[in-house]
Amino acid sequence: MTDCIFCKIVKGEVPSYKVYEDNKCLAFMDIFPKNEGHTLVIPKKHYEIITDAPDDVIKDVIVITKKLAKAVKEATNCDGFVISNNNGKHGGQEVPHIHFHIIPRFKEDGLKYTWPAKKFSEDQFRQSADRIKSKL
Ligand code: AMP
Ligand code: ZN
Repeated sequence: MTDCIFCKIVKGEVPSYKVYEDNKCLAFMDIFPKNEGHTLVIPKKHYEIITDAPDDVIKDVIVITKKLAKAVKEATNCDGFVISNNNGKHGGQEVPHIHFHIIPRFKEDGLKYTWPAKKFSEDQFRQSADRIKSKL
């Protein structure tokens, strides 16, 4: 994709702080980090959201994300970490090229979860589960 900022990073047309590269995946520092060590892992090939990519691409990216998470944890000495993947504009995705965030968390880092839970009845849970099961 010519317009995609992450494709440009893959091609070396836009600079990045690379931490890992193989023939299928790339990992680099997030330029607006939520904490020190915030790393992004992407497939080199352009796919917009996780469901667009073949299984083997996702398997590769997840395995590399795990490898990077271990390195990030050891390098930052964080107390925990979050792996997240946003899909679609309304799913919080700003860059439309699949990426996994690895965000180190520290005991008093001031980051807050701001998503309150919604209440559902037993019927609603059952219907919801059934609707999803019908799509598998
Ligand atoms: P998302 O909202 O999940 O699409 O996250 C996109 C992430 O990409 C954000 O955390 C941005 O800070 C990060 N980002 C955008 N442009 C660049 C860039 N040129 N280099 C590194 N990270 C970037
Ligand atoms: Zn791309």
